[in-house]
Amino acid sequence: MKPIQSALKQWMRSNESFQSSLQEVKKEVLASSDVQQLLQQHPELTNEQVEKQLIKLYEYDVQSKACEKCASLDKCVNVIPGFVPHAIVENQRIRLSYHECPRKEKQIAQNEHRSLIKSLHMPKEIYEASFDKVDLTDPERKQALAQVRKFFVDSQNELPQKGLYLHGSFGVGKTYLLGALANELAQLKIDTYFIYMPEFVREIKASISDSTINEKIDRFKKASVLVLDDIGAEFLSPWFRDEVLGAILQYRMMERLPVFFTSNYDLDELKNNLARSGKGEYDELKAARIMERIRQVSQPIEVKGLNHRDL
Ligand code: ADP
Ligand code: MG
Repeated sequence: MKPIQSALKQWMRSNESFQSSLQEVKKEVLASSDVQQLLQQHPELTNEQVEKQLIKLYEYDVQSKACEKCASLDKCVNVIPGFVPHAIVENQRIRLSYHECPRKEKQIAQNEHRSLIKSLHMPKEIYEASFDKVDLTDPERKQALAQVRKFFVDSQNELPQKGLYLHGSFGVGKTYLLGALANELAQLKIDTYFIYMPEFVREIKASISDSTINEKIDRFKKASVLVLDDIGAEFLSPWFRDEVLGAILQYRMMERLPVFFTSNYDLDELKNNLARSGKGEYDELKAARIMERIRQVSQPIEVKGLNHRDL
């Protein structure tokens, strides 16, 4: 009995319809612009070589190379979704090496960007914020933007030890400015953790005995940049003020890690709020201790301007 391979070859040679469809495919593959370009770049590929490696050329031809054949990454038509072939010719051998397609590359970059900005109870819109979109018609806002930008520029050399305490009325764009900063810092691979304080306080209250709280607090302590959004808007218990907020700030002060704050209150007003944490008591000393830490990790600046929420 003949070996199966040679029997198959003989069948292919003698089978007319198979031969004609093979010729069709060959014609199509050789006519494709990608394949033509490849063959022009590699004149060493003889007709015989082309014939022998037709299946490789076919694969190269049918795969999308710059997402041109796919409606989206989910609908990628390639054998390995999200990967495109690069043809390499060595010693007349064609090899296809697969790499991430442009859409996949973009998705990876986006995921990495997202992973650098973590947040607790923050609106999604912080991810869309950018310095370019900050409204500068208001000169007062320019100053705050300049300070925030300076932090970004300095971060290109070394992460500054101090963040900013942005205070001003509701809706002037304090949170937005810091969202823009976090997006820019992510380009430098610097991670930011955003905490919306009122929700965080509520969450801690509801789960004091929950073991994940300590883990979370640890992450806030160690993030490269920490943003405490809307501080002062909530009622802090003395325990939260001293053991949670105090501990986070103490750690960051010692490690020289910057903290940003946004608040509707200036530093004096915040101090008063912090002193009133205990029911009916006025603990100036404890409040002063927190304020001292806030001053160590940030620099105050007022954000003025129009209420953006009304625009
Ligand atoms: P604040 O934190 O001072 O209360 P926000 O940052 O939440 O104010 O801004 C209020 C609203 O205005 C938000 O919906 C925000 O997305 C929008 N906003 C603020 N600044 C800008 C800006 N420069 N460009 C576009 N939208 C902005
Ligand atoms: Mg805000």
